[in-house]
Amino acid sequence: MIQAVPQNSTVVAKFGGTSVADFAAMNRSADIVLANPQVRLVVLSASAGITNLLVALAEGCDADNRNCRLDEIRRIQYTILDRLNAPDASRKEIDRMLENIAMLSEAAALATSPALTDELVSHGELMSTLLFVDILRARNVQAEWFDVRKVMRTDDHFGRAVPDSTALRELTQTMLKPCLQKALVVTQGFIGSDPKGRTTTLGRGGSDYTAALLGEALHVSQIDIWTDVPGIYTTDPRVVPLAKRIDRITFEEAAEMATFGAKVLHPATLLPAVRNDIPVFVGSSKEPAAGGTLVCNTTEDLPLFRALALRRKQTLLTLHSLNMLHARGFLAEVFNILARHNISVDLITTSEVSVALTMDTTGSTSISGNLLTTSLLTELSSLCRTEVEENLALVALIGNKLSQACGVGKEVFGVLDPFNIRMICYGASSYNLCFLVPGDDADQVVRTLHHNLFE
Ligand code: ADP
Ligand code: ASP
Ligand code: MG
Repeated sequence: MIQAVPQNSTVVAKFGGTSVADFAAMNRSADIVLANPQVRLVVLSASAGITNLLVALAEGCDADNRNCRLDEIRRIQYTILDRLNAPDASRKEIDRMLENIAMLSEAAALATSPALTDELVSHGELMSTLLFVDILRARNVQAEWFDVRKVMRTDDHFGRAVPDSTALRELTQTMLKPCLQKALVVTQGFIGSDPKGRTTTLGRGGSDYTAALLGEALHVSQIDIWTDVPGIYTTDPRVVPLAKRIDRITFEEAAEMATFGAKVLHPATLLPAVRNDIPVFVGSSKEPAAGGTLVCNTTEDLPLFRALALRRKQTLLTLHSLNMLHARGFLAEVFNILARHNISVDLITTSEVSVALTMDTTGSTSISGNLLTTSLLTELSSLCRTEVEENLALVALIGNKLSQACGVGKEVFGVLDPFNIRMICYGASSYNLCFLVPGDDADQVVRTLHHNLFE
């Protein structure tokens, strides 16, 4: 296990869904926590599968489907509870949460709402943290459950709420820090509360971001992200089994990977880490001895090609208008409309009379729904002709000084002859070259490129 932290400093350890999936996984994670006395704060995701079930319930479903999903949630949490020999109080608390979930799901079947969805899905993290405290206590560890909503203040953008880092910093110092001195604290990733005290969520996969934000507020010396892969690889090892682990990677490179779809880190995770120069370690809770990746300020080498990232389900919006020709302010108008609809643009290419763009799904919301709403398209149609293409995939080649090197285009696109490259973005950033391909070709494109550039 990489231990780059100085003595007597605090580490925050985050465990993802598979690391708290069942009794055995929770115990492996507890072993990791207890092996490092510097870990004072543990941030958890919901047990694997629970958030998806809760999201489905929040979308509203008929009684049969609802009961099936409620049974499955109960089964996952009860298999842990039963092995745990948990005290009555814990059983009562989990039962109370399961009752809440049933009640909120019935309400969602009548009328869905973003606020209701966040309240409902927050129960996954609330339950996993309660169970993990009992796992630690069963080993005679003084562990305390902490409701992160007391410090993780956010705006009211349900499903994709934005944390208020000033409030977080102050509240962490007054409410969370004193607890760390008395006990090992276990808290929830992903969830927060808005100014009215309503539960919010930070977007799917947001527990990594919570760990980094709390790490920043507490001035920790390292943020450990424990997941189901022993580090960050040259591409998703599920897509390319020959992908290689990157032992050390810079913040910039890893942030690009996360932004462009490497699910191993939530896209916003590295912002707080970079701001404060806090190293982030990524390892597998299944094989902690296998080591992992350290994301930090510097690395020995800065290779031209570092990794490939893949983001599926991309939508390309193309806007055509002859008014664009020699006009001024057309793009400003388009961007104003997009901003009013809360859409941030991701990739963009322009010609004399058209502009093509993809939408940024960073920290994508826990509330399903299309970013391209009818009202947005209607507003844009008053300005130009719109065309929407779906089921594309964004492939990003991450590297260093890419825009300054010769031959990059040939090396990349030379091997992608058989594929339709729908759009290319190159030159704005020296860290990436991005392009869109049909969704069905995505895996093959990544395998071909990986084979030629990394194997
Ligand atoms: P957790 O629940 O622990 O947060 P995630 O499923 O969110 O775990 O992230 C881990 C997954 O990220 C891995 O199982 C792997 O398939 C995927 N992944 C995507 N890109 C990469 C990459 N470059 N390196 C490692 N894992 C990656
Ligand atoms: N449980 C949440 C999700 O599945 C948050 C997380 O796992 O990071 O998206
Ligand atoms: Mg994750």
